Amino acid sequence: MKKFYVYVILLSLSIILSFSRTSHAAGKGLTIVLDPGHGGSQSGAEAIDGRTQEKDLNLTIARYLKEDLLEYDQVQVILTRDDDRDMGLDVRSQIAEDYEADLLVSLHNNAYDGSSGYDHGCFVLTGGGTYREELSHEEQKLACCILHELSELGIEEQGILLRASETGTTYPNGKLADYYRIIKDGILNNRMQVLIEHAYVDHARDFGNYLSSDESLRALARADARGIARYYGLTRDGEEALPDLQNYEEKLVTFKEGFETETRTEVFYETRGDLSKESEREPIDAPGTDEGSETDKDSREKINTDKESSTEKDQKIDSDKGAEADSESIPFFQRFLALLKRIIHL
Ligand SMILES: [Zn+2]
Repeated sequence: MKKFYVYVILLSLSIILSFSRTSHAAGKGLTIVLDPGHGGSQSGAEAIDGRTQEKDLNLTIARYLKEDLLEYDQVQVILTRDDDRDMGLDVRSQIAEDYEADLLVSLHNNAYDGSSGYDHGCFVLTGGGTYREELSHEEQKLACCILHELSELGIEEQGILLRASETGTTYPNGKLADYYRIIKDGILNNRMQVLIEHAYVDHARDFGNYLSSDESLRALARADARGIARYYGLTRDGEEALPDLQNYEEKLVTFKEGFETETRTEVFYETRGDLSKESEREPIDAPGTDEGSETDKDSREKINTDKESSTEKDQKIDSDKGAEADSESIPFFQRFLALLKRIIHL
């Protein structure tokens, strides 16, 4: 009989414990979805060394960032992809929906395409505030914290980039939607979704200092984690939470309206940093490639494809696929054809 009571007590205890664990996972913690940009046939921008691909850098940062974030109390982390695979933009946002995540962070690295006043440094994309203004402001506060940490590494901070639709896409309130799909979906789903461009893969100094070694990628992840922890007031190992930063408004940079030229849509926005560009674009010695100046050109071509793939432009080009066509799931060849058509002005 004694044994029976012990059994009942143990059973009750295990039920109580399993309940408390469930309730922790269900509500109290913070669920963060990390989204390594591109993957599979979408390689993203090609680095100045002619070998490194953006998709791989993004995945490495995501894995380190997951490790770092899990050190904090009550944090759950999900990766949209943990291998090299094609993945549509809608799938990425849907994963955040499925997990009822508090935050999705899309991880990217940039390349120069002539549209900005700078060709190096870091920036974060967030909502512009035309719909669910408070949500956009929270995204901007988070972006401010992340930029602060990245700039501590020495990366030039280029600000929080806001860009509105250039094709007249609107939110339910009739105001212009945000330009980038991952940002727009976040606002529509009432979820924080931001995109970090850590550094430029085709800029010698950025690549050399921040992207060319495992240690530097690890440092980027650590900076992202500290930024996220600072915004949410996360703690680890009994440490005190980092103080919040509120100076996000001074970091906001708005895209000027795009305009059509003979061959492409040009957009231009101002820099927050210095305007050093071409002088720094010295090719670095890359083992296994003797193409020299070809490297830069190749990476620029890649970039255009990369840029297109994460914007609404493809939806315009492939309008026969419907407004909701997912640019990243469109096969490379089709996108190449679309690009070619634009170039020869058909
Ligand atoms: Zn990218």
